[in-house]
Amino acid sequence: MKSRYSLSIGKPFGIRVSVHWTFSLLILWIVLISIGRGLETLQIIMHLLFVMALFVCVVLHELGHSLAAIKLGGKVDSITLLPIGGMAHLSKMPEKPKDEFLVSAAGPLVNVLIAAILWIYLAVFRAIDVHDLEFETITGNNFLLLLLAANLFIVVFNLIPAFPMDGGRLFRSALSIRMSRLKATQIAKDIGQVFAILFIIAGLFFNPFLVIIGFFVLLGAKGEYEMIKYQDVLKNFTVKDIIKTEFAELELTDTLETAAQKLVQISDNGFVIRSGGDFAGILTKNDLINGLNTHGREASIEDVMKTDIESVDSGTPLFDVYQDMQKKRKYLLPVVDKGRFKGILDLENLHEFFLIKKATQ
Ligand SMILES: [Zn+2]
Repeated sequence: MKSRYSLSIGKPFGIRVSVHWTFSLLILWIVLISIGRGLETLQIIMHLLFVMALFVCVVLHELGHSLAAIKLGGKVDSITLLPIGGMAHLSKMPEKPKDEFLVSAAGPLVNVLIAAILWIYLAVFRAIDVHDLEFETITGNNFLLLLLAANLFIVVFNLIPAFPMDGGRLFRSALSIRMSRLKATQIAKDIGQVFAILFIIAGLFFNPFLVIIGFFVLLGAKGEYEMIKYQDVLKNFTVKDIIKTEFAELELTDTLETAAQKLVQISDNGFVIRSGGDFAGILTKNDLINGLNTHGREASIEDVMKTDIESVDSGTPLFDVYQDMQKKRKYLLPVVDKGRFKGILDLENLHEFFLIKKATQ
């Protein structure tokens, strides 16, 4: 996901890795805490280097998930680094329980591997002066040992069954072998939310980061469960089932003023635009309002209508379209059948359709 809140730092294996702006707050926080503790500049630099090294391990962890997912037929858009850890954005997730298990396990396994390599290195080269070992601050002597410990911590923490954290995903995939994915997700979600509340309470006393993680887990569990619910309810339907063949129409040469007047009378998320009877595109509510702001009332629809509109085939599974519309904030799509315009698909109707089917399931 390309975001204006993140800074791209590289593209290993074709996966964009970016750092979220809030990461700068983490750096600032570390520097302020270090100054508060009376540390010297060199010691502060060591702390920052340690955080960098730790986040390299976090990127490798996410790459572990990502590469496993790609190998099993999934699709990975990007990896974002937040102060609380990394996040791989998958646009397609392998769903078979065994595949999901492998993808979830791959991340922590990378940290086990890193810890093992560090341990071998430290043991073989006797790289630590044990007589001079102290943990007051991060030094050249304890750096790698602390990094090893941090990797083990990442493994243990991620294995807590707090869905959608790794441990929770492992738990769900194990449950999915014996029951439906929906039921498994519901159980994993409930347990995940209990952990989330424990994180928040514990975090209030010990660590503010834990509070943030708690909220992430709480919302993440709910969001993922709802997605699975949608998937379950919509699984037997295609776009054809909710295509709208009656809609508000305007001519390409109409002014935005005309469109604005008509907008208050319709319930759709926009208009179908015709040019001499042929389908020319769609004008969404948002495009219209933005157009009024930038071009004024007298401008024609042609001036503000997006020309690169995507359309959706009437045979597309409804859940696939739903995910896409939701993620990319598309509210209205033209529907085509064998390349011919057939009608429109409104995200609002899709929500209603879901609610009706859910209620009557
Ligand atoms: Zn992970």
